[in-house]
Amino acid sequence: MTPFSPPAPAHDPIVEAVGRLVNLVFGPDRATRARTAAILLCAIMYGICCSAAYYASEINLMRPFAPKLLWATSMPAYVLFYSLVRFGKTKHLKDPTLMLPQNVFALLAIAFAYTAIAPHDRGVVLVLIALVMVFGMYTHTPKQSVQIGVLAMLLLGLSMGILAHIDPEYYPPKLELLRFELLLGTVPTLIFSAYQISSWRNRLSAQRRDLRIALEQVQQMATHDVLTGLYNRRFMQDKLEDAVKRFDRYGERFTVVLVDLDHFKRVNDQYGHKVGDQALMAFANAAGIVLRETDIIARWGGEEFIFLLPNTNAEKALIALERLRQTLANCTVTDTVPNLRVKFSAGLAVHETVTGLNHTLERADKALYQAKSDGRDRNVTAPPDKP
Ligand code: GH3
Ligand code: MG
Ligand code: MG
Repeated sequence: MTPFSPPAPAHDPIVEAVGRLVNLVFGPDRATRARTAAILLCAIMYGICCSAAYYASEINLMRPFAPKLLWATSMPAYVLFYSLVRFGKTKHLKDPTLMLPQNVFALLAIAFAYTAIAPHDRGVVLVLIALVMVFGMYTHTPKQSVQIGVLAMLLLGLSMGILAHIDPEYYPPKLELLRFELLLGTVPTLIFSAYQISSWRNRLSAQRRDLRIALEQVQQMATHDVLTGLYNRRFMQDKLEDAVKRFDRYGERFTVVLVDLDHFKRVNDQYGHKVGDQALMAFANAAGIVLRETDIIARWGGEEFIFLLPNTNAEKALIALERLRQTLANCTVTDTVPNLRVKFSAGLAVHETVTGLNHTLERADKALYQAKSDGRDRNVTAPPDKP
């Protein structure tokens, strides 16, 4: 029987070309793509604001040099932001989207545009402060949100005050004062909201991180033995059932080895429970080193272990067990008892028929029993099933 394989996805040259273009413009990975998208969105906003500024200067609402200066500064700044983010230069920064420098740049641009617009129309620019703060509140820390809000008030407030003093005709002090009052009435609320949202975001991501760690710990505890760090019986039971399914479907053979440490009670009685635990850990460690990565090792209970050796026949399993025996013979359990060595008996059963997993485990158990009765420190292979 041939294993089922899903049909290979059809290659659509247009889809592939679009994919390549997206990668080229936005970057190779999801995080970079999200960041470059944010930067490009801001760049488009600047483009729109600059063309509005050109229009404003055409209808004499803005000083003619202002749109040129806005364009000449914002486009190079955004080419720089885009290049740094797109080519991964900001990846390791705390602020990989460069939102803080972008926000500071935006506030400077807003303050400049404010000073260049005609006396009765410049108030409209103040709306953009809200845009800057809303954009930043999803990436800034609470402190940064406050800093950006305070910087906005300072920049605009100082511009209003100084210019009203220097050129009261173009910056009528009464109007500037009115706008400053409006600024005072709105920006602190924005700062407060941005602060709260940033704090919630921070708390949420901290909770998500804690949850992920807790989930990993629960998964580790549910599948691993605490003392040895090996897989536990429940996990091995699942893996054995998987192996049986693969055997039934594809004929993939596997060998089960039940291992029991020899005279382990004596180790505990003579040297204490702690040394007994160290012996169990030494065995687990050696088995982990000697066996293949594809082999699965579990603590079956007490001083019993079980190995699931996929695609391994009895001869190969015996070679592995002898290697493990040699390794343990050269392995000190603890410096306090330098001569103590771990010995074990093993029963092997190759899963060959469709008589079921329990039957294979019973055969391995019987073989282990035989190894014990034959004098321990040896392996016994269960005879093949009778047809
Ligand atoms: P045999 O060669 O026949 O297997 O003899 P044995 O002494 O190993 O067998 P027995 O079943 O009589 O003893 C097993 C001992 O393993 C008894 C138990 O206290 C000890 N043991 C089981 N789990 C642990 C453990 O987590 N830590 C320690 N230190 N000892 C354990
Ligand atoms: Mg035992
Ligand atoms: Mg034992």
